[in-house]
Amino acid sequence: MRLEGKRVLVTGASRGIGQATAILAAREGADVAVNYVRDSEGAAATAAAITAAGRKAVVVQGDVSDRDSVEAFVTSAWDGLGGLDVLVNNAGIETIIDFVDLTDEQWSNVTNTNLRGPWMCSQVFVRRLLAEGRTGSIVNLGSIQAGLAFPGRTHYAPSKRGVEGLTAVMASELGKYGIRVNCVHPGVIETDMTARLKTDLVELEAIRQKVPLGRTGLPEEVAPIIVMFASDESSYITGQHIYVDGGMIV
Ligand code: NAP
Repeated sequence: MRLEGKRVLVTGASRGIGQATAILAAREGADVAVNYVRDSEGAAATAAAITAAGRKAVVVQGDVSDRDSVEAFVTSAWDGLGGLDVLVNNAGIETIIDFVDLTDEQWSNVTNTNLRGPWMCSQVFVRRLLAEGRTGSIVNLGSIQAGLAFPGRTHYAPSKRGVEGLTAVMASELGKYGIRVNCVHPGVIETDMTARLKTDLVELEAIRQKVPLGRTGLPEEVAPIIVMFASDESSYITGQHIYVDGGMIV
């Protein structure tokens, strides 16, 4: 099993890609801390699947965009699992708002969650690793929007391009401690974030035309790549990016 003996914290693990990742991590031998912000039922369902896989689950509520909350839930995860080896910075939000209409609050909500969140979660995680002289692995979730422009994403696209930069600088600074940092960029994946495509069949078809594999992806097709970066299979890889997008960016 690829994560035998590892302890993994997944932010935003109540739904979508985070949920699939948390469950796969458990099936690969990890104990898992399940973070969420609002959906306690989703988090409980993730925890039940982890337990059914024979691994330990702890549920840690908290907002990745709030410093005190991050300190509290990373500490709960650390204490609940007796330490952490892997952090998956998955929690994220996307809204679609015309450039001319975007407010300061909407800008801050998205950038604070998608960029400031991974920075703060990683900093708290790394400080704890260093205090105990431990190595670790961090996997960030970017997006094809780090490389492709879609209208209405004035706030979202820079947050994900920022995650690219964050990954690069963290990898270059933290390598000397044996801490690896990599990034997975999903394409259009069938989660609540893209639920509008269930009814917007025109946009769905337009997206399919741009995907060489001709379809949208599933959370279960992203999770194995996150697990690969999390695990020792990628022990000599840091600062790298993989697009899981059906070939949209080639
Ligand atoms: P999703 O289904 O909408 O789920 C989002 C998750 O993030 C939920 O668990 C949610 O918790 C959590 N979350 C949101 N804000 C949070 C906060 N402030 N603090 C803690 N948790 C928070 O999203 P997804 O589609 O799986 O996306 C996962 C990641 O992949 C995101 O970073 C997203 O940007 C990226 N991504 C997704 C796609 C796609 O097509 N789906 C494409 C490119 C990149 P609650 O359930 O409690 O609200």
